[in-house]
Amino acid sequence: MRLSRYFLPVLREVPKEAEIVSHRLMLRAGLIRQQASGMYSWLPLGYRVLMKVKAIIEQEQDRSGAIELLMPTLQSADLWRESGRYDAYGKEMLRIKDRNERDMLYGPTNEEMITDIFRTYVKSYKDLPLNLYHVQWKFRDEIRPRFGTMRSREFLMKDAYSFDLDEASAVKAYHRMFVAYLRTFYRLGVTAIPMRADTGPIGGDLSHEFIILADTGESAVFCHADLLEKPIPAIDTDYRGDLAPIVADWTSLYAATEEMVDMGAFEAEVPEAKRVSARGIEVGHIFYFGTKYSAPMKATVTGPDGKEVTVHMGSYGIGPTRVVPAIIEASHDEAGIIWPVSVAPFEAVVINLKSGDADSDAASEKLYGELQNAGVDALYDDTEQGAGAKFSTADLIGIPYQLIVGPRGLKSGEVEIKHRKTGERETLPVAAAVERLR
Ligand code: ATP
Ligand code: MG
Ligand code: MG
Ligand code: MG
Repeated sequence: MRLSRYFLPVLREVPKEAEIVSHRLMLRAGLIRQQASGMYSWLPLGYRVLMKVKAIIEQEQDRSGAIELLMPTLQSADLWRESGRYDAYGKEMLRIKDRNERDMLYGPTNEEMITDIFRTYVKSYKDLPLNLYHVQWKFRDEIRPRFGTMRSREFLMKDAYSFDLDEASAVKAYHRMFVAYLRTFYRLGVTAIPMRADTGPIGGDLSHEFIILADTGESAVFCHADLLEKPIPAIDTDYRGDLAPIVADWTSLYAATEEMVDMGAFEAEVPEAKRVSARGIEVGHIFYFGTKYSAPMKATVTGPDGKEVTVHMGSYGIGPTRVVPAIIEASHDEAGIIWPVSVAPFEAVVINLKSGDADSDAASEKLYGELQNAGVDALYDDTEQGAGAKFSTADLIGIPYQLIVGPRGLKSGEVEIKHRKTGERETLPVAAAVERLR
């Protein structure tokens, strides 16, 4: 992408309305624009990041055996009357009437709709286990939308729903999602710790929130420091095998959110030097809820003995539009965003220090072309701006590698690479630089 032809509305001023660093940086770097309270457009650079986050989530869901589909954003109130949630949900639900005065709503979540799809088609235990998911916009009329897309009213959610014959197999489905979430956040370049979360009237211990530690997080959290360093299950983890030992290993170390914490247990189980008491951002939530929806909505299958069985369900959410600011909270410096390579809008930016100089232009063009041929997602700063402004834009938008084409290197056929994260610089022959990024 040539920056001179791109749409990147960078702001030099710090926007006053933004209270936390990720919100400020998302506005300054031209990632998002607020359209109304809690509603945002994703501008081109931000949209690239959001789509990379979404793709990683989908890959790890697919790997775990979940199957993607797409349900609509608007739903009929009648489905929600079946589960009893139409009245129970309260003011967070945006209620709408169509031209025929039928009650509709903008979905805040999809348990009812997926249960309806399930009961329509699935009739036998032989079709289980089944896990269906989608990535779709949700609307929740939050009392206090704030912090940009961290807590917005319209937001993107990946929500998966598992269906099983009994509790024992539902627990296995839960374990698959637990492991898939560990791998997802690892690939997104963040440390997200699974913490015991409230299960409400359902009880049991099968609810975990995945939490990224950050001072600006909305909830207080308590955990064992070793969870921050724990190795993540490998890419070849067999999701058809027994994942209980992995989950047991992770959950053996204390970790709970403020709603669940028992300070006595925290202090008894975790040696003082290992106690982390911090603030955190909920980026994911997994939950087993048994027959809460399947029973009232009559989602049953025929069991092996020919009898009707009400299926056991769980749901599993991740908010990609919250993950983006959470990554920034965890990864930035004075100069701007520091994207993990996996979600960076562009992997590299070619900075032409002397735009307008024939040799410098030719060398930059050539490098940019070679990067494209090598399959590297590159941005080329071919604008007329001075070197200082180009560096500050590159730092602000957080591109992992800056390839600096200056008059000195030109003579020797070399280019300087600056690593955004470490600030480290090295000078390499052009071919070697391209090879490095391939
Ligand atoms: P919170 O406690 O922050 O209100 P929640 O517990 O209501 O979130 P869930 O119903 O568990 O959210 O939804 C699953 C995921 O969707 C959350 O873990 C979060 O990543 C995301 N999410 C929920 N509400 C919002 C929101 N208002 N804006 C952006 N993302 C959200
Ligand atoms: Mg909420
Ligand atoms: Mg919550
Ligand atoms: Mg939650």
